[in-house]
Amino acid sequence: MTLFLRPTIYRNKVNFHKFHQYSTKSNTLKKLRIQKFIITGSTLFATGSIFYFFINNDDTYKSFASFSLIPVKSTISSDKFTATPIHQIIPQSKTTSIFRLKLSAPLQEPFPVSSCVHVKDPSLQIMREYTPISPIVKNDELLYIDLLVKRYENGQVSRYIHGLSVGDLMEIRGPVITFQYRENMYKALGMICGGTGITPMYQIIKHILNTPSDKTKISLIYANQSIDEILLRKELDILSKKHPDQFKVYYTIDNAPSSSSWNQGIGYITSEMIKQNMPPPSSSSLSNIDDKNSNKDDDNSILILVCGPDGLMKSISGRRARDMSQGRLRGLLKKLGYNENQVFKF
Ligand SMILES: Cc1cc2nc3c(=O)[nH]c(=O)nc-3n(C[C@H](O)[C@H](O)[C@H](O)COP(=O)(O)OP(=O)(O)OC[C@H]3O[C@@H](n4cnc5c(N)ncnc54)[C@H](O)[C@@H]3O)c2cc1C
Repeated sequence: MTLFLRPTIYRNKVNFHKFHQYSTKSNTLKKLRIQKFIITGSTLFATGSIFYFFINNDDTYKSFASFSLIPVKSTISSDKFTATPIHQIIPQSKTTSIFRLKLSAPLQEPFPVSSCVHVKDPSLQIMREYTPISPIVKNDELLYIDLLVKRYENGQVSRYIHGLSVGDLMEIRGPVITFQYRENMYKALGMICGGTGITPMYQIIKHILNTPSDKTKISLIYANQSIDEILLRKELDILSKKHPDQFKVYYTIDNAPSSSSWNQGIGYITSEMIKQNMPPPSSSSLSNIDDKNSNKDDDNSILILVCGPDGLMKSISGRRARDMSQGRLRGLLKKLGYNENQVFKF
């Protein structure tokens, strides 16, 4: 900002100097003082108006911000919807694509973990939550937001989103925190999800594995209809290979595939799959985790996160209550001895 103001101030200084040089009489001096006052006032007012115009006009703001004269303001807000252009659409399966949105200026930091954004269908004025899968970690590109969106045949907002093309605007608002994660909050996190329920899990997984001081162990059971429908599989496999002692993933698909090379689960998630892959309700059997980093209360040293379609929620943990509170714990997790403090439903 100082750079921006300097030429104007400098010009005025020269002019005042000139006035002083040529005036001798006191009434002339008085006049000059008034002129000086008026000119200084007008200069400040004009500069202020230009500055106000720039920060309140998104298009001009962009080029203004590129000179780094003022701190870059957040390009999306939690209070109001911002029309954000779709930069790219990357198909992931028959029904699901990544919608990459381009912001007018980079975010100052990655999204909090875990958080979602609201997307609005402007014609129907309805909105739904979507969980950005980037930017989540420091090295993510802060100029883009990636939303992994599944299209439901009769779904209002997901169908609207899938009807958009590159260059169209999507109205988004956020971020909105859904589950407040803190480093080493638990000894172990279990995750059970289906379909696009992977998105909040992926946010947390990526965040933990990119934080070397976070020693939390993560195990994931991920259910899908078929091998082709497994979302983010390549990314998950790379992460589990890179962090074999910290992150394990187990896939299950509804029906047996024709290829015999499939050695993961077949069918809906069962008690057996949970017992074999999730941290047990009593964490005393968890070893080699630095105790000083974790919650001392044994019951609270593990947490199972659950996210997915209605049927999966009902079978694994019970659904959330109508008022969106966690509701009673039911389903397989209840039968296996987990308590309400050990389960979080997205
Ligand atoms: C915190 C949070 C994060 C989320 N993150 C993601 C994400 O990252 N990606 C993602 O894809 N989704 C995510 N979701 C789900 C998303 O918000 C929407 O619920 C989803 O896209 C469906 O919305 P819709 O408007 O398209 O469907 P809706 O209109 O709400 O319909 C939902 C379902 O009901 C069915 N349905 C609609 N009308 C009828 C009817 N009359 N009779 C019978 N069935 C009907 C539809 O076919 C569909 O299966 C998230 C949800 C939450 C709460």
